[in-house]
Amino acid sequence: MTKLDTSKTEWDLSPLLAGDDDPKIEEYRKAVTEKVDAFVEKWRDRDDYLKDPKVLREALDEYERLHAMPGLAYDDLYFHLRTRVETQNKDLTAKLQLAEDFALSIWNKMQFFSLKIGQIPEDVQKSLLRADELKTYYHWLDKVFRAARYKLSEKEEAILNLTSTASYSNWVKMLQRFISKEERKVLFADGSTGKANWEMLSSLAGDDSVKVRQAAKVAIEDIQNKYVDVAEAELNSVLQNQKVGDELRGHKRPDQHRHMNDDIDSDVVDAVVKTVESRNDLSRRFFDLKAKLHKVDHLAYSERAVGYGEATAEYPYDQAANLVGEVFQELDPDFYDIYSNMLATGRVDALARKNKSGGAFCISIGPQHPVYVMLNHTNTMRDVATIAHEMGHAIHSTLSIRAQNALNCDYPTSVAEVASTFMEDFIYQRLLEEADEETELSLRVGLLNDLIASCHRQIACYQFEQDIHQGYRQKGYLSKDEINDLFNARMEGYLGKHAEGSDNFWVAWPHIRNYFYVYSYASGILISKALQSKVKKDKAFISKVKEFLSAGSSKSPKEIFADMGIDITDKAFWQEGLKEIEQQLDETEKLAKKLGKI
Ligand SMILES: [Zn+2]
Repeated sequence: MTKLDTSKTEWDLSPLLAGDDDPKIEEYRKAVTEKVDAFVEKWRDRDDYLKDPKVLREALDEYERLHAMPGLAYDDLYFHLRTRVETQNKDLTAKLQLAEDFALSIWNKMQFFSLKIGQIPEDVQKSLLRADELKTYYHWLDKVFRAARYKLSEKEEAILNLTSTASYSNWVKMLQRFISKEERKVLFADGSTGKANWEMLSSLAGDDSVKVRQAAKVAIEDIQNKYVDVAEAELNSVLQNQKVGDELRGHKRPDQHRHMNDDIDSDVVDAVVKTVESRNDLSRRFFDLKAKLHKVDHLAYSERAVGYGEATAEYPYDQAANLVGEVFQELDPDFYDIYSNMLATGRVDALARKNKSGGAFCISIGPQHPVYVMLNHTNTMRDVATIAHEMGHAIHSTLSIRAQNALNCDYPTSVAEVASTFMEDFIYQRLLEEADEETELSLRVGLLNDLIASCHRQIACYQFEQDIHQGYRQKGYLSKDEINDLFNARMEGYLGKHAEGSDNFWVAWPHIRNYFYVYSYASGILISKALQSKVKKDKAFISKVKEFLSAGSSKSPKEIFADMGIDITDKAFWQEGLKEIEQQLDETEKLAKKLGKI
């Protein structure tokens, strides 16, 4: 295999804009506005497309082309990415806000179209869904028809969109900003002391050294205590905002909106939640094992991410990127081509640096817009897995964009984490093959850390969300003590005695502000486990996996997987995935015993 070109470690944003003040911003906005206005002008006052499949096809084709327009969201994407690498630059934050305002105004103009389609009488809907001309848009139309029951009038929808910054986002951003500004003096792994921000504290809390973990714990608790009253007010507002939306729309349960958006039945999500909860014995057993490995009776809640042993191997970016490349090449040449092309064209911002935000992500906003990935590579084994994870998202997006029209190319959240965890696991497999037994134990603990965090922890979080939304609706307000009671009970559910000291750890948990999406980590990882075991048994199954990766949202996840012979409505399917986790746990315990560690 030829060596990959990894020389570009910062984003090349020139396909979007030439710079922060590129005059093209105005040109793009003007062009977009003209095209959208022409569409509105042409269709707004007509109703023939609401009856005649041929006319509806014409209108949908035009609507689809608007979504596929180059420049549609160049400014939005550009400033979104710029603010991630220059987090302290207020000028960029302001420019991003303007770009978002523009995008919202465009969206509001186009909204009439799907709202009107949603109001088509049911008998006409049925005949339209049967029409040959509309086959390409079948699933899109079906979703619009189903969602229409919960839509408000165009004006009301516009008001909710426009006021959501004040009623929701500003609250959430405020708390995040407060916390991200905080720094505390702590102990580092090399024995030195110094100041650490929230991001650093979170990783120090899982450090191998107990002294480092302790110092980080004290600092984290101090920051959480400082903001717990603010968080109580913020979270109650977030809960109220969701309650108002649900009442206006007539949603029957707080998570219904999420399920509709994710194109997944509530029954399927309930099956995932119940099945994972029923196997919380696995997560508790894993934390018992970690406590034994660390020679303590129990771990504190803040220590839940602690690994075991020193995975001393270092993977500089170039080496890590090439290792991932080899694994992709073995799986499928298309995966490799997409990956190497992204590296060579500056679509990956790879290294940690000052003022860049933490974490990693992949962003894709449809055709004609490049897919970008952010990493914060610091040479650890975990970082190698992160490259594979984010590239899994990128490959999924790229294949779906290639195969689907602009209305179908975006995949739903319910399956968003399948490709990422799928790729990640093959990398772990490779790392395991190369490791000696000591390193293998360390790797296996790391792997289980990820599995349990994605599966049991996220489901516990989901259930906590259900509890606070229901609690708020019954009581009208939740005090920090009440929130703590609900939180601690769920954390104890999956951690057992290792949940000690979990008070206030909801204060800075961003996921709970992003209503009910966390189940998708568990569903993603369990589906990906099923796909992996099929690929390991039969390499040719990768072509089926590619069908899934190319399907975007052209069908519901239930249908996509049914085509592959997988029934996601069946509890037994989810239990299978959990059995894989159990097997990993068995092997890890066995190895720990063999090495005399427990
Ligand atoms: Zn992901």
